[in-house]
Order: sequence, then C-alpha cells, then structure tokens
Amino acid sequence: MADPLLQLDGLSKAFGAHQVLDGIAASIAPGEIVGLLGPNGSGKSTLLNAISGFLAPDGGAVTIAGRDITGLPAHEVTRAGLARTFQLPSMPTRMTTREVLAAGDVSAGSARNMLRGAAQDQRIDQLLEMFRLSHVAKLPASALSGGQKKLLSVALALRGAPKLLCLDEPTAGVHPELRSEMITILRRAARDGTTLLVIEHDMLFIRQLCSRCIVLDRGQLIADCAPEELEKNAAVVEAYLGKSVEK
Ligand code: ADP
Ligand code: MG
Repeated sequence: MADPLLQLDGLSKAFGAHQVLDGIAASIAPGEIVGLLGPNGSGKSTLLNAISGFLAPDGGAVTIAGRDITGLPAHEVTRAGLARTFQLPSMPTRMTTREVLAAGDVSAGSARNMLRGAAQDQRIDQLLEMFRLSHVAKLPASALSGGQKKLLSVALALRGAPKLLCLDEPTAGVHPELRSEMITILRRAARDGTTLLVIEHDMLFIRQLCSRCIVLDRGQLIADCAPEELEKNAAVVEAYLGKSVEK
C-alpha cells in the first residue's frame, strides 16, 4: 500500500473530565474518500479540529504526507496541504461571494497553488459555475442562505487544490439537487489527487461518495468498514440506536 496521506496515532483530547477523543488511530491512503460518521456529540468535529490545527490534542500524533503536524497552528497545517470547512461556515459581511473566493483563505481554505490575474479570474468563474453560485456572485457572502454558504465554503476549500480536504457536514442545508453535483465535484477532486475526509449524516451521500467509513462513538473509533457494511456492524447499530431498542 502507498504511504498514508493522513495518519492518526492514538489521538486524544479531553475537555475537563469529558474524554472527547480517546486514542483515535486511523490511516487514509492518497486519493481515498473516507466518511467520518457517528452520533451527535461523538467527537467528529473535535477530531477535524485536532487534525486541522484548530485544537491541540492532549496526546497522540497527526501526520500528513509523512510530515508530523501534531500541535502545529492551523495556518501551518494549511501550508502542509490541508483545507477544511466548518459545520457552520461564517462569511465576512463586507465581501461579495466572488470577492471571498478571490481573496481565498477566510480561515477555511487552503492558499496553496494560488493563481494570479486572468488565470485566477477564470478559475473563480469556474468554481462559481460548478457550485451554482454565479447568480449570487455579487451579493454579500454573509447574505447567502445556509446551503449557499456551505457550497461557497467547499468551493473555497477546493480552490487551492489541497492534498487533504476535510469537510464538516458539507450537504447540511444544501438542496438535494445540488448534492449529486457535489458528489461529482468531490470525486473529480479525488481523481485529481485530493484525499477526502467527510463528516456527513446523509447515508445516500455517503454510499455514493465514500469507499470507506470510520465511525466514532463517545470519542472512540468503533468501526472502519465499507459503507455497505455499516448496517451489519453491531457496534455501529448500537451506537446509533442504543441498547434499549427492541425488535
Ligand atoms: P460531533 O461533531 O460528533 O457532533 P463534537 O466533536 O462537536 O461532536 O463534540 C463532541 C463532544 O465534545 C460534545 O459532547 C461536545 O459538547 C464536547 N465539546 C466539543 N467542543 C468542546 C469545548 N470546546 N469545550 C467543552 N466541550 C466540548
Ligand atoms: Mg459536529
């Protein structure tokens, strides 16, 4: 197997007495599209924060493309090739959608492979079109709907052609029609060399996009399997439905 693009070794984080990440170990190969699943509060967003430098883990290590980035601040993790989006993206009030894309890193996007001049204008037009945002290009980004902000944040994160793209619930609030387009866009990104880690609740989206899923429950990694295997996995079923559910 190729060297992993992302390697997590015993990643841990507690908030007070609450162990939110408990020794997470996983490895993702270059070009893989991996779903990150788990019930609400299981630690998914915290794991992305620990990977992307928004949160220093208490223990363990994060390696991207062979480089140990554990504890580095977010801007350095970005420089190492990671881009991410947030569960609730916030956009600057004084910039239009187009200006946000042109300016790049609004804490979410990677600034690698920045283009200049006409090539950049062309790339931005292409992204606006791909994410169906051309008609709102001149509106203030903060005035977009929740779904449109999600699309803009994914466009922004993809703009720098990151090595690793981590998405936190990219389809929440996004119109179902646009979800299949997002799948096409993300698959293309993977073909072009971006590795993806995607937090998502929509199982149809997961099945269509991901070849593999890792599942968290109460801070522990409880499953690492193909999407089709999830419903046959007793630990996963129990995490989602609880022990008290009777047939
Ligand atoms: P998920 O994304 O899987 O829904 P999170 O990673 O956001 O879950 O949160 C996991 C747990 O950690 C939750 O119980 C949450 O309340 C707690 N948590 C997250 N961030 C903090 C924080 N900064 N301080 C204290 N507790 C936190
Ligand atoms: Mg979350």
